[in-house]
Amino acid sequence: MTAFRYTLEPTAAQEMLLRTAGGAARAAYNTLLALVKSGLGERGTDPDVRVPWSKFDLINAVNAWRRDLDAQGATWHRTIPSIVFEEAAADLARGLVAFTDSRKGRRPGPAVGFPAFKKKSRTLYCFRIRSQKANVAVGTPDRLRAVRLPRLGVIGVREDTRPLRRLLSPGPDGEPRARVIAATVRWRRGRWTVAISVEAPDLHPAVRHAPPEVEASGWAGVDRGLIDLVVAATDDGTETARVPAARIYRRRQEGLALRQRRLARTRPDSRRRARALQKVSEYQARTAAMREHRLHEVSNLLVKNHDRLVIEHLHVAGMLANHRLSKSLSDAAFASLARILVYKAAWRGVIVVEAERWYASSKTCSRCDHRVATLPLSQREFRCPECGLRIDRDLNAAINLAKQGPRLSRLVRFLSCPGGGHHPGPGPASSGPGDQRATQTHRRHRPTTGTAAVCGPSTARTPTTALPGA
Ligand SMILES: [Zn+2]
Repeated sequence: MTAFRYTLEPTAAQEMLLRTAGGAARAAYNTLLALVKSGLGERGTDPDVRVPWSKFDLINAVNAWRRDLDAQGATWHRTIPSIVFEEAAADLARGLVAFTDSRKGRRPGPAVGFPAFKKKSRTLYCFRIRSQKANVAVGTPDRLRAVRLPRLGVIGVREDTRPLRRLLSPGPDGEPRARVIAATVRWRRGRWTVAISVEAPDLHPAVRHAPPEVEASGWAGVDRGLIDLVVAATDDGTETARVPAARIYRRRQEGLALRQRRLARTRPDSRRRARALQKVSEYQARTAAMREHRLHEVSNLLVKNHDRLVIEHLHVAGMLANHRLSKSLSDAAFASLARILVYKAAWRGVIVVEAERWYASSKTCSRCDHRVATLPLSQREFRCPECGLRIDRDLNAAINLAKQGPRLSRLVRFLSCPGGGHHPGPGPASSGPGDQRATQTHRRHRPTTGTAAVCGPSTARTPTTALPGA
């Protein structure tokens, strides 16, 4: 599953509806939670009391609540798609299951508490519409930059929807490459957004059935730089890309601090406070958008100009983030960049492989393979005591990564590869490319190959633990 997020441009009337729907989802959730809590309380004295707990129970309960609203003459909920209420019930059910699983030790990770009420002041508007009978659509014939949601109608979006529309339109076999699972509408950072989650996006048809054999030449390494965001180079030492880290962040930080100081000077619950808060969130939204835009630019640049890329081991990239505060931003950016890079690469049939976990790309001489013991971060130049090579440290690292390409591709360290999306044949749209058949056909591939690599951070970052045949 992957999600496409767009900024909504609702009309004033639509915005009212969005607020109502967001408020309705919260009200439904809280009403159900109150029901569960009072049920649990009653069960303390009467063990026969039935507490709604499962998704099924909770959906029934939310529908009963809506009938009560009708009986009271409250019809506002009729303007909202009923699925919004059901999804709120499903959310609570998920929270309850997570709580019990966590308590009984069936759930890894940190302990999950009992679901809490969603406070109005803390909770941003958020609701989900699961697509039923294709009632969530992207683009209409006369308006491409729009989404169609049940009851809410056609709402304009700011961005180009073409990549998603192409995934949703029928391919050569008449089946769309992906289908919409749900639309999640949020009010965040001062604007309305919709995230359309889709299942089973396939690789580009042109490369779908390409064999996974990989040529030995033409690899480029991508190093996450300290001064530069990325430096890319081929194995013969040619620098193919160098993107300076944007200096905007520091300036943006000052702007943010200014707005936050203004916010701090307002009185609680005042109108001025609401306005100041809106300014802060708008500013943060803009900063995040600028950062994201840049990552898209950089990854486009990389996948457009290369066929085969080697990137650092993502786990290492993530771990280094702990060491130095000043670097944490570039590390975080690199992890996001890698995620975006991998799915863009998958679409274009560009191969991306990941270097081995402790491969010292920075400390190795790209000419003679001599490895130096240390290389302080302040040292911008790599100097080889063996062969006398003097070279920019990031360029050196990128060349080293590029040189690893042929070997890594033999070890099947693909994050994205042309054979990864191999479909045994045109199947129903619902059979995801991450399905058993595809995985079994290429058992030695990481499960993240092909479309699964499009799945976002969690799968894309999954480190390979075992190296087949290594
Ligand atoms: Zn050397």
